[in-house]
Amino acid sequence: MKLTVLYRGPLSSCNYGCEYCPFGKWKHTDEELAKDRADLERFLAWVEARTGDTVSVFFTPWGEALIWPWYQQALARLTHLPHVERVAAQTNLSCKLDWVKDCRAEKLGIWATYHPEWMKRRRFVAQCEALTSLGVRHSAGMVGFLRFAEEAEALRRELSDDTYLWINAVKDGQEEPYSPEDVARFTAVDPLFPVNNVRHPSLGRACRGGESVISVDGEGTARRCHFIDEPIGNIYAPDFDQSLRPRPCAKTTCGCHIGYVHMDYLELDRVFGSGILERVPVKPLWRRQDVAPRVSPRE
Ligand code: SF4
Ligand code: SF4
Repeated sequence: MKLTVLYRGPLSSCNYGCEYCPFGKWKHTDEELAKDRADLERFLAWVEARTGDTVSVFFTPWGEALIWPWYQQALARLTHLPHVERVAAQTNLSCKLDWVKDCRAEKLGIWATYHPEWMKRRRFVAQCEALTSLGVRHSAGMVGFLRFAEEAEALRRELSDDTYLWINAVKDGQEEPYSPEDVARFTAVDPLFPVNNVRHPSLGRACRGGESVISVDGEGTARRCHFIDEPIGNIYAPDFDQSLRPRPCAKTTCGCHIGYVHMDYLELDRVFGSGILERVPVKPLWRRQDVAPRVSPRE
């Protein structure tokens, strides 16, 4: 069986403090960190035991995981398993990258989000360049607040042509709705912005969530995705595999990349191919001439 697991343990702390995020600058107690580590260890053992399957794992923590050595080691450990096809993680890319040498880089994928209020652009670009030189496929991205538009354009100009820069449309909490000009501006940076700027109709639609893609928490509770709370089982139960079957989506819409890419009718697996978890399209999509130099690079 082919199975993709989105793992989200109890870790919900972050070294950054984005004002729109509830996890910013939150610190765990030593006991909470120990629990997160123990949960992760149990999950790793479960993946290691599934030698009859082809497994991909995507770490989608509430906060920032890659600043902790046990997550870095987990990625490395998983990449060395013959039955693990892909290991990806969402990160703010603030961590050192010395642990990457312990990974099979060709199996690693990084979804790196740039937070301009917390990291200098030059450092973020340097981190992406380091990933490239280490042979790690990665995407870079930003939250599409209008106040970040100039910074997104500047980042697009400084990133390598081979690095896809996505913009996550702000569907709630935006200062004001996007105008057609705003949409055109973000689309010039990220040609797939119009795809993300939509809540895709999903009710009753076929989605791989709950069949070959699952979301798993620290207790092993499995759900079809991060967006539907109802559990479908627990991965540590001996009969868990019986829980995996086709399930039409139970939500009206799906508006997040890590969800809607698994809906059949959107055919986004054709756009992203094997880079679907770390959000890297099969072909470079953007054109440098589309991003006009509105500002000089600041740093
Ligand atoms: S870097 Fe991510 S997890 Fe950390 S505060 Fe910002 S949005 Fe939240
Ligand atoms: S379409 Fe989205 S909300 Fe529905 S099951 Fe799939 S991932 Fe979950």
